[in-house]
Amino acid sequence: MAAVLQEFPAAQPARVELRDVSLRYFTPAGETQALDRINLRLGAGEFVSLIGQSGCGKSTLLSLVAGILRPSSGQVCVDGAPVAGPTPRVGYMLQQDYLFEWRTILDNAVLGAQIQGRDLKLARERAVHLLHKCGMGAFLHHYPRQLSGGMRQRVALARTLVTEPDVVLLDEPFSALDSQTRLAIADEVVDVLRTEGKSVLLVTHDIGEAIAMTDRVVVLSRRPGRIKSEHHMVFGGGRRPTPLEARARPEFNDFFRTLWDELDVHVEG
Ligand code: ADP
Ligand code: MG
Repeated sequence: MAAVLQEFPAAQPARVELRDVSLRYFTPAGETQALDRINLRLGAGEFVSLIGQSGCGKSTLLSLVAGILRPSSGQVCVDGAPVAGPTPRVGYMLQQDYLFEWRTILDNAVLGAQIQGRDLKLARERAVHLLHKCGMGAFLHHYPRQLSGGMRQRVALARTLVTEPDVVLLDEPFSALDSQTRLAIADEVVDVLRTEGKSVLLVTHDIGEAIAMTDRVVVLSRRPGRIKSEHHMVFGGGRRPTPLEARARPEFNDFFRTLWDELDVHVEG
């Protein structure tokens, strides 16, 4: 009996786990149920995207994982421990880059580490390394206003990674960029996050981005957000294709059609 049990080691705790998580917002105008009994696991090194109509609770879900909001019911855990507030283990990158215009790129990149009271010398070394990796090595002493939107997002990514989170939350990080820049930056961001071994939760309203960038796509229903379905983005031929390569694969179109139907988009007017 003992020998049999040894063949089934305890399941590894998920990096992120949401168990029956619901979230209601209370405002003077009334109550809004944003999420309804969400169950979701994110494994170590796994990339998962969340797609769903505007207002279905995607950002709310990320804020719960980031420890900015507490669930109305259910539990959110990171590495098996309930989330009690923001933690350095979880990095959050938003659509807006929130770079400070009066600080250089390097000083912006170390900001999070500085706020966390980390060793500034180490943080600067790590920031220089990451900015080089993100293709921003030549701009360390520039100011944000001297950069394009795509470059600013690269700096925001480096800043998120300087604090060495295990989990990276990305909330529509490319939605303000033009389409060519989006394609290029998606490749770079995935490359950096994969080599750094991060677990990633990406919110996007762009089906193609979800397919190209992540291992699994979770579709949320209209508000209150419930998990409608999950889809594994399995591409044939060994190594996972880069986002740009994925778009040229025959599987891409099949996934696109499936997800489009799942999203059930209605154009109004
Ligand atoms: P998404 O990111 O999918 O567009 P959100 O998570 O931002 O959706 O919002 C989900 C729902 O909760 C929406 O109906 C939104 O209006 C509502 N909501 C979001 N934030 C708040 C808040 N701070 N107070 C009250 N309602 C909110
Ligand atoms: Mg949102």
